[in-house]
Amino acid sequence: MTRMARHRPLPPPSPALAPVHRRIVTCRRCPRLRAYCARVAREKRAAFRDEEYWGRPVPGFGDPQARVLVLGLAPAAHGANRTGRMFTGDGADGSGDFLMRAMHRHDFASRPTSERRDDGLGLTDAYITAVARCAPPDNRPTPAEIANCHAHLVAELAALPRVRVIVALGRIAFDACWRLAADRGVRPRPAPRFGHGLVYDIDGLPAVIASFHPSRQNTNTGRLTPQMLADVFAKAHAIAEAARSRR
Ligand code: SF4
Repeated sequence: MTRMARHRPLPPPSPALAPVHRRIVTCRRCPRLRAYCARVAREKRAAFRDEEYWGRPVPGFGDPQARVLVLGLAPAAHGANRTGRMFTGDGADGSGDFLMRAMHRHDFASRPTSERRDDGLGLTDAYITAVARCAPPDNRPTPAEIANCHAHLVAELAALPRVRVIVALGRIAFDACWRLAADRGVRPRPAPRFGHGLVYDIDGLPAVIASFHPSRQNTNTGRLTPQMLADVFAKAHAIAEAARSRR
């Protein structure tokens, strides 16, 4: 048995998500990504050489009754691919902590950091997942790999019956929202434009809020500030609450 086999998946948040997560964790549809994740897990970064890397596809995590779905791009090679939890373990100035601080400000996250799978972080009314479940080289999954992984997103969303809002972190996540809409026969014209903070609320679909991705490239340059991301979660909360009051 390899050392990596000691890592167990996080318990699925609900019975409906259990088979979905099983299919994700055992998926091998993208040979390039599976080979890359396994190699990163084997070779490790020096700072983590004593740790077991997850090294497998990463399912989403959070509240099974979530009204807000947070959609990222893909696991980071030494973040979620190491810890086995989305947006977890990519460092103090990494995207996970940046995201969690914004979510914590609006009570979606119990802590303002996301360090390890056993750090006690809990999500309320929110569920975090990604367009691709395997870490891609240079953070760039190919269109074919994104298409391969779409079925997992569809299945995860189907197992989250209360989702009312999708926070799309970055252009690739934003585009995935419109593929989800197309699956339901909805093709908005003109095509929705990506812009930070833009909201698309179309009857019969979860609302979509576009946000810059909290990558270092965006946060270190000030393109995305903590306040800008916190404002996105304020909007998500308001939309979820408005949907409840309409019922
Ligand atoms: S990226 Fe998605 S479809 Fe591709 S191997 Fe990973 S889990 Fe499977």
